Amino acid sequence: MYEWSEEHQAIIAVMRRFVDAEIRPQLDDIEHNGIPPYAVLRKMYDTFGLREMGQENFARLLQRKISGDDAPASRRGGGDPAAQLISTIELCRVSPGMVTSLGVSTGLAAGTINKLGTPAQMERWGLDLMTLDKVGAWAITEPDSGSDALGGMRTSAQRDGDEYIINGSKTWITNGPFADTIVLYAKLDDGSGEDFRNRKVLTFVLDSGMPGLEQSAPMRKMGQKASPTGTLFMTDLRVGKDRLLGETEDPKGGGRASAKDNFVAERAGMAAMALGVIEECLRLSIDYAKNRRLWEKPISDYQLIQQKLAYMEVARVNVQNMLFSYVERSINGASMSMAEASAIKLYSAQAACQVADEAIQIFGGNGYVSEYRVEQLSRDARVFRIYAGTDEMQIVAIARDLLKD
Ligand SMILES: Cc1cc2nc3c(=O)[nH]c(=O)nc-3n(C[C@H](O)[C@H](O)[C@H](O)COP(=O)(O)OP(=O)(O)OC[C@H]3O[C@@H](n4cnc5c(N)ncnc54)[C@H](O)[C@@H]3O)c2cc1C
Repeated sequence: MYEWSEEHQAIIAVMRRFVDAEIRPQLDDIEHNGIPPYAVLRKMYDTFGLREMGQENFARLLQRKISGDDAPASRRGGGDPAAQLISTIELCRVSPGMVTSLGVSTGLAAGTINKLGTPAQMERWGLDLMTLDKVGAWAITEPDSGSDALGGMRTSAQRDGDEYIINGSKTWITNGPFADTIVLYAKLDDGSGEDFRNRKVLTFVLDSGMPGLEQSAPMRKMGQKASPTGTLFMTDLRVGKDRLLGETEDPKGGGRASAKDNFVAERAGMAAMALGVIEECLRLSIDYAKNRRLWEKPISDYQLIQQKLAYMEVARVNVQNMLFSYVERSINGASMSMAEASAIKLYSAQAACQVADEAIQIFGGNGYVSEYRVEQLSRDARVFRIYAGTDEMQIVAIARDLLKD
């Protein structure tokens, strides 16, 4: 059975020291005063040598691309994804929004460019995203598509000689307001009159400041305030073939397939985010329950409070086991089906929300104010049930898999 090794425990300890020294003191500024998270994330990259690690990983990916080895990392085996998951868990204990921003930039945006791009495109955009020198966004969702992301997509890329003219808008785009580099999904309009639902999906890379591209200010969200989210507007935005990933309309594993690949990785990664929230809520709740005295006893003496703590622990064990099963499989080079990834995402997201809500209950009125942090974790966790596919979409994916012939 997989467990955190001594080396992993050491990483956890170092990460906690960094979070306590560098992030907790700035948390209110980031959460409530609109300070973007990128400076503190870059400090984390510098402190832990993650910039150099990004460069090394990039060099490896580039080498594989040049040599034609395009097996997905999940099928290659051998690597231990635990170090990255540990930083996700530890950061999520204080600021799930920071993890969302980081994951979209270094995971979704860089990952898509490195997977579909030519070596030249990888060098042009992928490296700077992996070192966090630049911030990336990954834009698929539109105001009128949402859960029907691929079928309902209306943003169009019309061929014009060797170029494309892009029109449309994207919404709910993490890092959208500040992104330097944007991976944009659009439907090919080749003039054939094909029903828009069936049109080919192309993947482009945009740079901030291009004529025809507008990035909105951050939206005012319920939670995850550390993660700036915005809308993108494309108006007669002209792009050359050099911005089409793979420089072809039919890259291997591109278009719809690349978006779906990302769905699996994103869903499995959610377990680590949920675990961070659950662990922190449990830690804070145990501490509070032991110290809050009523009727001359700590509230931890009351069975109704003990029951809440016990169910939080059940959630922690379940989510941790799901995560460990994902790590073990990744190490063995085994992939995860969409249904399994969806089951993990559905359970973990709901568990994090329930645990954070019960933590508020244990804190009473103090749970309802920001200084005790459980209210922030509860607001931040709520979106776990919405983004990367809603609860309902996870259920649809699981049922589809179970019922297929
Ligand atoms: C903070 C945040 C960050 C995000 N970041 C990004 C990003 O970086 N890039 C990006 O592209 N997108 C991003 N998203 C978008 C996110 O993926 C979508 O919000 C999500 O897919 C749901 O789409 P929607 O909001 O349009 O809801 P809708 O699709 O309109 O859903 C509304 C309701 O209907 C339900 N529903 C829909 N279809 C069905 C059905 N067939 N059966 C039953 N129920 C159904 C849904 O489950 C939901 O309850 C982000 C969203 C948020 C909130």
